[in-house]
Amino acid sequence: MLAYHLIFKTMRKLFGIFIVMLSFLAIWSCNPEKKEVVIEEEIIINESSEFLINATLWVQQSAEYEACCYQAFNYAKLALDTRINLANMDKPLAVVFDVDETLLDNSYYEANLIENNTTYTSETWKEWSDMQCATAIPGAIDLLNYVQSKGVEIIYISNRRENELEASISNMEKIGFPAVPVENFYFRTDESSKVARREMVSEKYNIVLLVGDNLADFDGMFEDRSENMGKDVVTNNKDNFGTEFIILPNPMYGKWERALPSDEEKTATENRINAVIGYDEICK
Ligand SMILES: [Mg+2]
Repeated sequence: MLAYHLIFKTMRKLFGIFIVMLSFLAIWSCNPEKKEVVIEEEIIINESSEFLINATLWVQQSAEYEACCYQAFNYAKLALDTRINLANMDKPLAVVFDVDETLLDNSYYEANLIENNTTYTSETWKEWSDMQCATAIPGAIDLLNYVQSKGVEIIYISNRRENELEASISNMEKIGFPAVPVENFYFRTDESSKVARREMVSEKYNIVLLVGDNLADFDGMFEDRSENMGKDVVTNNKDNFGTEFIILPNPMYGKWERALPSDEEKTATENRINAVIGYDEICK
């Protein structure tokens, strides 16, 4: 009788456990969050582009990015007024603009790199610029109109290649940029350095302001990043920012990336993780 009672009790316990397990299974299969996790795991993110995700999201989705752009362009107007008053008038005045991520938003190209698990190539970039789908950086058109209203020439020095000129002009006109003579577009022919092109512009104009997203858009002294990532040169010229040089934020790409410490044995992501400054380096 005792044995029969024990068997019955054990069976009842096992049945209870079975019911509980069945309930968990039912809840798990109906839980959309769990399903989402499983689906997300199937998306393989190539490490060559994964670090672009947050940078591209910030540019496309954060109101802070937009505010930074307005701040830069509003400040450019103030700086321009001051610089015009101080300028030598022996030559016409000009403002030199970079184009990409200074006036045109190409974050969609970066998004495409993420979606296709790939990195920049000049071929895919050309395909993108031929599409003429870049949008205006917030506040850019307003600043260009302001520059023209002051009788100051707009000059574009861009590392878009010369075979992109026609599509670039068309893209800019389509989205409302003011008309600028084609000879004011100094696109890249050979070297990426903008020093020689700035010198050519300086022969015709007094450059009162330079606007860009890369320090090399302002002066050749910023091109060498081998010492302290180029930060010392910035510190030594800190008074020129906001007065002569107006910089736009671009977390997606730039010369700064190539200056990061890099070990060929390691992957791009590992190198970036190694470059991040942690507790151990700062709390000595
Ligand atoms: Mg640029």
